[in-house]
Amino acid sequence: MDCVFCKIATGEIPGKILYQDDKVVAFPDIHPAAPTHILIIPRQHIPSLARLSDNDTALVGHMVKIANKLAKEGGIAESGYRVVINCGKEGGQVVPHLHLHLLGGRKLTDGMG
Ligand code: AMP
Ligand code: ZN
Repeated sequence: MDCVFCKIATGEIPGKILYQDDKVVAFPDIHPAAPTHILIIPRQHIPSLARLSDNDTALVGHMVKIANKLAKEGGIAESGYRVVINCGKEGGQVVPHLHLHLLGGRKLTDGMG
């Protein structure tokens, strides 16, 4: 699978892993849009939110749970943060492997801030 996020998940592309378990991996966004900008991805290659199967809804809940955990550990749980999933071309999705953005550490405005 020629997918950059799959390669990060397997370790084929080395990088800083902030959290991992058997289902998800979290790592810093390479072009941070905020002081905290973390991507949380499933290990499984799901191309987009639009391609979720009914069996994957718990997985997305788990991704949100890990976002909350990382927000707390990163000290932004009280100040506030944003989770974003871009879906498809007009939704602003560039990388075709499902990912959740965790953004915080400054006052966020519209869109991705
Ligand atoms: P999206 O527009 O929702 O598809 O977001 C893709 C995000 O992935 C962007 O914020 C990129 O900066 C980020 N990104 C792309 N390649 C990498 C990489 N190799 N490591 C970390 N983040 C990446
Ligand atoms: Zn992938």
